[in-house]
Parts: sequence; C-alpha cells; structure tokens
Amino acid sequence: MAEIRFEQAAALKEKPDVSKIGFGKEFSDYMFEMDYNPKQGWHDPRIVPYRDISVSPANCTLHYGQAIFEGMKAFRTHDNRIVIFRPLDHINRLNNSARILDIPEVDVETVHQGLRKLIEIEKEWVPAKKGTSLYIRPFIFATDPYLGVSVSATYKMMIILSPVAAYYAAGFNPVKIMVEDTYVRAVPGGLGEAKTPANYAASLHAGLVAHEKGYDQTLWLDGVHRKYIEEVGSMNILFKIKGEIVTPALCGSILSGITRKTVLAVAKEWGVPTSERRITIDEVHEAYQNGELEEVFGSGTAAVISPVGELYYKGEKMVINDGKIGPFTQKMYDHITGLHSGEVKDTLGFVEEIIKL
Ligand SMILES: *Cc1c(COP(=O)(O)O)cnc(C)c1O
Repeated sequence: MAEIRFEQAAALKEKPDVSKIGFGKEFSDYMFEMDYNPKQGWHDPRIVPYRDISVSPANCTLHYGQAIFEGMKAFRTHDNRIVIFRPLDHINRLNNSARILDIPEVDVETVHQGLRKLIEIEKEWVPAKKGTSLYIRPFIFATDPYLGVSVSATYKMMIILSPVAAYYAAGFNPVKIMVEDTYVRAVPGGLGEAKTPANYAASLHAGLVAHEKGYDQTLWLDGVHRKYIEEVGSMNILFKIKGEIVTPALCGSILSGITRKTVLAVAKEWGVPTSERRITIDEVHEAYQNGELEEVFGSGTAAVISPVGELYYKGEKMVINDGKIGPFTQKMYDHITGLHSGEVKDTLGFVEEIIKL
C-alpha cells in the first residue's frame, strides 16, 4: 500500500453552523487526492488543503463525461465516536463503476486508509446534532487534455467532505413523486448500474418538469417497455404490499444502493418478508386500488429513508397511507439513523469506527 503524505493548511476555516447550512455547500479544510498515469498507475495518495484545481479547457471529462463518484457519510455517535457507514461497500462500488466506464480501478486498501486518515484529521467537522453528518464525496475523473473521443490515459481521484444537515429542509415528511412516462434515464446495457454524472445529466430536465407540476422527484420506468419500475433519481424505491417489502431486482439499469441493501438486510433480521423482482407500475396501481399498497419509500445515503406520500401516474394521484409516514418506513428510518448515532446495536457489522473522542 502506498504511503499517504500530508500537506498542512496555512490556516483553518471557521466551522459553519450546521443548523443553517443546506446540503453540500460548505467544504472542510482538507481533501484526499491521487493521480493515475499508465506508467505509475495510481500514485501519490495525499491529503492536502481543500482548494480549487485547474484543468485544461480540453479536459476530456468536460467534453465526454468519463467520470464516476460515490456518496457516503461519517457520523458522530451519541457517545462521541466518529464512525462511517459501510465504507468498504462504497469503495468497492466505486470500482464497479470504474469497470463500467473503463476507468482504472483503485487499490481498495489505499483509498480506505486515505479515507480513514482524512476523517481522523477532519474529526471536528463531523457535526453532533442528530440527523446531521459529514457527507463524503469520493470521485474520479479523466484528465487527458484531448478532444478526440477515446478512453483517457490519465485520471484524478479526490475525496471532499461537506458537513450536512438532514437532507430535507422541511424534515422527515412524505414526498410526492411523479412516475415518468415521457423521458427515460437508463437502459439495460447502458450506464444505469454505474454511479456516474451521465445518469444525473439524463435526469435533470425530467426533474425540472416534475417540479413545475408540484412533484419532488421522478420515478423512472424501464426504458424499453416503459412499465417496469426502476428507481427514483438518487434513491432506490421500495413498496410494502400485503406485508411484503418489494423492490425492483438489480437488472443492470439501476444502481445497487447500499441503503437498499441495508433495508433488505434489516427487514430480514426482523423476519419481514422481502422480494427483489420485476414489478410493473400497473401491479402497484392494482395493489393501490385493492387497498394492498401499504407503504412506499425511497432509500439512499443522502436522505436515508424517504417516505412517499403520493405517486402520480398518467393523470391519476395515488395517495399512499393517507399521505402519512407508514409504520414500517418510520421504524426503518429510526433503526438506520439509530445505527448512525450508535443508539441501535450494530448486529450486522455496518458501522466502522474511525476514532473515539
Ligand atoms: C447513489 C444513488 C442511489 C442510492 O444509493 P445509496 O448507496 O443507497 O446511497 C440510488 N440511485 C442512484 C442513481 C444513485 O446515484
């Protein structure tokens, strides 16, 4: 494993009041950085002061988008420990995205140690209030200054940190979701299984249209038949139908969410039946009409669990559980946020301790 060097900042910033910040607008004092070229491979892992970087105007990522990212969180527990939720799952998924975009894989151990060291240095940036966290954004982008379309020879990896309040400013409330039947985001054989900016670029316009109609997010259907449910823009989707938790199977065009995996594992631990399978919007609608659609919620690192109060599809509003948070959704949210805060026992080994303060 490569040695991780450290460059001291001349001065440290003032920590912001987390109760007043939004999501991802403020950044900590330091960041992790390393570079790739074919001769040296990934080299010079380092922790340096957070600062702007400069790239060539011909930087190929700006033109062709060969880039990937991750999103995870560090928490300050109720007994003053700093922990990260499932970091190795995130680093391994970064490598899965790297394979899909022909980006050279990173050494998991080097990135893991770099991440641990960065969080240890930045421990004061991990906010304490329940629901807050230090959001961790690892990313890799191609750096060849070249306008020809080809796989880049050189890359940069960085990890930046941003203290964040709970994702929804309005609190843990049900969101309204529009089922998207005009635009598509990903198709089998495409990039849907990678965490890559292209998936977001493909979703922005539909998101804007949904917002204009009064909806918070869009639910994507499969790009071929336009009937199988895929996922919400930055969250996976789960349904509680007749007591069973149903979520679309990983089919190549949706992201393998780590919160999704956590929800399924915790549900199994509780003895709640789960099923990963293909599910159509018509099946959801039929369950709704029969009174069998009990709860709907999204899962993702940013919001953790997002209760869905309304689904809009082809002119019809399906109001879920009277627009209120369902009991399973609430229990799952409390459980996972309790794992983050250390108040719930981590029986499945999801929480990695960085340091005791
Ligand atoms: C990051 C992301 C998710 C959620 O994944 P988690 O690992 O639970 O944070 C879901 N869908 C997409 C498209 C994503 O980029």
